Amino acid sequence: AYLDSIASRDANVGAFLRVEKDRALAQAASVDKRRQSNKPLGKLAGLPVAVKDVLCDQDTITTCASRMLENFRAPYDSTVVAKLKAADAILIGRTNMDEFAMGGSTENSAFQITRNPWDLERAPGGSSGGAAACVAADMAPLSIGTDTGGSIRQPAGLCGVVGLKPTYGRVSRFGLVAFASSLDQVGPLARTSQDAALLLETIAGHDLRDATSLDRPVPAYSQSVAEPLAGVRIGLVREHFAEGLDSEVASAVRDAVAVYESLGATVKEISLPHSKHAVATYYVIAPCEASSNLARYDGVHYGHRTDEAEMLEELAAERKALEAAKDEVGLSRLDSSLVRMYRKSRSEGFGAEVKRRIMLGTYALSAGYYDAYYLKALKVRRLIRQDFDEAFREVDLIAGPVTAQTAFKIGEMVDDPLSMYLVDLYTVSANLAGIPGISLPCGFDKSGLPIGLQLLAPPLEEERLLRGAHMYE
Ligand code: GLN
Repeated sequence: AYLDSIASRDANVGAFLRVEKDRALAQAASVDKRRQSNKPLGKLAGLPVAVKDVLCDQDTITTCASRMLENFRAPYDSTVVAKLKAADAILIGRTNMDEFAMGGSTENSAFQITRNPWDLERAPGGSSGGAAACVAADMAPLSIGTDTGGSIRQPAGLCGVVGLKPTYGRVSRFGLVAFASSLDQVGPLARTSQDAALLLETIAGHDLRDATSLDRPVPAYSQSVAEPLAGVRIGLVREHFAEGLDSEVASAVRDAVAVYESLGATVKEISLPHSKHAVATYYVIAPCEASSNLARYDGVHYGHRTDEAEMLEELAAERKALEAAKDEVGLSRLDSSLVRMYRKSRSEGFGAEVKRRIMLGTYALSAGYYDAYYLKALKVRRLIRQDFDEAFREVDLIAGPVTAQTAFKIGEMVDDPLSMYLVDLYTVSANLAGIPGISLPCGFDKSGLPIGLQLLAPPLEEERLLRGAHMYE
């Protein structure tokens, strides 16, 4: 049924980079067979899950929507993909994204754009735009996205589905192609918090192959999700309701908060005084880490290599000879042809936004600027985390908008990176602080576009987030 749905809808939406039809049918047949013979089945048996094309899966390629990795096949599974396979999920396809997860509209994919199923003229958000759009258009019941600065919550909000960014370390990053390693997290997208709970409990947990993953038991989220949070204290952030927030979004969020009050919640205004620096802090730290992570795409180890690269073997032989002859001048000439190969491979392989991030990050990390930018950003990051620590002494959950506006038009912001960065205003703080956040639908604007409500919780309180979301649903 889902393959049929994809066949009839995805030509318009463009959520999938590849539909893994043969594998999906084989996995489904294997589940059927085991079910008939009463063999044990995994938690997600028979459920199609779409996966953002940034998590390694040895049965298919992992492109990160980049020319650089157009033909890259990982020799191993990411931990998340391995867990999905072990749970008997049906891996139905790989979803479109902004190249290397850099962006907020999925327009930075090197291969195709994805359209918002609610209005095909509009963007689905990003970078997990394909993962959100395929769930919104009912082409998969569940999908996996990644969130470095909002890339699960923002597209979930703009597409009217549920998306959860777990606590940093809750889900293993092993086999996730790195963007900004101290911010990246993998998480579920689904139609409801109940479904998201089931998917999260399948992928979460400690992993010896990710040193930053947390050695803490995984609660049975799907068992507790339906228990309401009696007397929950909800914080509304004063700074969130400032200039720039669309009035329809603001009133939908306030209406949602009124629903909580009617269910017995108490609501309190709180302040996150450093949140005004969050976007600036994020856009120093994320590009710095990206520039370092993306240095591996050198045209030699793997990924795209320029056609001039046949020279490489000759160069290696030549280098040996020059070294033996201690010919310094010859060696430096040789190095400049290697630099040419490196530069050309990267120029051809990366798109404009990725190059922009590499340049920003390299600049901010360079000698003389490191203290002024990177180190300063790390200090502000700590202050942002402390704001949350203080706020969570007074409230159990923080509620607010996911984005200041509903879905924007395709093409509207591609030439204006700064405006695109500002879309991340409400989402980046959770990544900087390492705390979990969920986006859930809370209504529509006058043109019928979905509005998202964001809930934030203290570290490792995903259970509280899911129960809070379910209570509203
Ligand atoms: N829009 C943000 C960025 O471009 C967030 C991306 C993400 O979470 N992967 O960096």
